[in-house]
Amino acid sequence: MASLQEDSISIDTLDERLKIQSRIEELPDTDDEGVPFPGKGQIPLNRPASISPSWLQPAVFGLFHIDDGTTTMEAQQKTTAECLSYLTLKDSQDLPLNLYGLPHLRRKAHADFLRVTLGTLPAPYAAMDASRPWLFYWTMAGLTSLGEDVSGYRERLMETVRPLQNPTGGFGGGHGQLSHCACTYATVLALTCVGGLEVVDRTAMWRWLGEVKQADGGFKMALGAEEDIRGAYCAMTILALLNLPLELPQDCAARKTGLNSFTDKLGEWVSSCQTYEGGIAGAPTNEAHGAYAFCALACLSILDAPHKTIPRFLNIEALIHWLASMQTTPEGGFAGRTNKLVDACYSHWVGGCWSLLQAATKSPNDLWSREGLIRYLLTCCQQPGKRGGMRDKPSTRPDGYHTCYSLAGLSAAQNHYHYHTEESPTTFLSSAFQWSASRPSKEEMAQWSIEEEDRVRLVHPVFVVPMEAVERARLQFEKGGL
Ligand SMILES: [Zn+2]
Repeated sequence: MASLQEDSISIDTLDERLKIQSRIEELPDTDDEGVPFPGKGQIPLNRPASISPSWLQPAVFGLFHIDDGTTTMEAQQKTTAECLSYLTLKDSQDLPLNLYGLPHLRRKAHADFLRVTLGTLPAPYAAMDASRPWLFYWTMAGLTSLGEDVSGYRERLMETVRPLQNPTGGFGGGHGQLSHCACTYATVLALTCVGGLEVVDRTAMWRWLGEVKQADGGFKMALGAEEDIRGAYCAMTILALLNLPLELPQDCAARKTGLNSFTDKLGEWVSSCQTYEGGIAGAPTNEAHGAYAFCALACLSILDAPHKTIPRFLNIEALIHWLASMQTTPEGGFAGRTNKLVDACYSHWVGGCWSLLQAATKSPNDLWSREGLIRYLLTCCQQPGKRGGMRDKPSTRPDGYHTCYSLAGLSAAQNHYHYHTEESPTTFLSSAFQWSASRPSKEEMAQWSIEEEDRVRLVHPVFVVPMEAVERARLQFEKGGL
């Protein structure tokens, strides 16, 4: 406990440093209401585990939540109430606690939970038949965030996704289903995690992506489907990780409208998705949404260096204002839309935006509360009991999606990501491969109330898979071509 005491006391003067031990001994725990004595107000008290951080004081709890009798506000108050006893550590839910009194990250329980989703699933999961690659991605990404080795799944995953690949390019969500950008993205990322990308037919993939590229610069999710910003991010991720040629196939429809490259008009199209609120919508004229903010920023960070593309195509000040407004008080996590509730999956979709924005603005300062997000995830979003897994909020059940993106959000909050601007871009999509990451300092870990055991691995800020898996993919397709 000695190091904890030293870390959490702010010492301003030599006098305080010299006398600090004796001064603390003078103060009984119950002295808050006692007779004042000289210097009492200046003595920096050690912060015991049961004391909450500054944003978790009674005066703050209801600050922005005026009861106007609406359903929205009732839901907000219910959520705040159910989170507060966990956030303030009054109820630990019998989770094992770390040195600071916060629940430890339940590494083994979460890994066990994720592995179960690879087995036989209960009947309601039939609804996920068109989303099978997502189960693979959430599991592989979640396990690797926890430091688990997933290489043992390589052959099995390659054989499982092989029948989902269409001869005309791309992957469907299930057997015999149309290729879809989201399913193809999830398949490519899951294969990246295990090092199994050779199962992908790159030539057919390139041709298929040419068919979903649109004359206005965006991408459709599938042939004949909707055009939205998920398509743009998914397509650019696939093009970059597989290092496919940027020239459009000669016979694709977009080329007949005058486009030559997958990147033509893309930045302008992403720009058209920014709304009057400052956030990013799925498509022009729609409502701003946290997940689409990440899609836009990550897409632009693949297109070229974030400090070039993001300020060029987005109003950064307005976007930062909107994103910062999504961090909820007092919960500390993020909501996905204006007037919506906190939800752990936005720990990634919004939490993951900050490293991209910091690279864009070259700002050394955080514009969000890492401590708030870490506390929300560790205290409110870990399923107690034997089962493990992470959940949207305390009143919900854990699932693979929220487990994956809670862990990715923890990585965004716990680690630092650096974009290296010195390397010059080339003819392929090289910018997303110029990131490095560093772990937090001891002082930061103490400030965020985490121990080594509560840390997650370094997750790539653009591709949302392990950093080393991205490097392996880059080396695998270094030569480019088809
Ligand atoms: Zn969610």
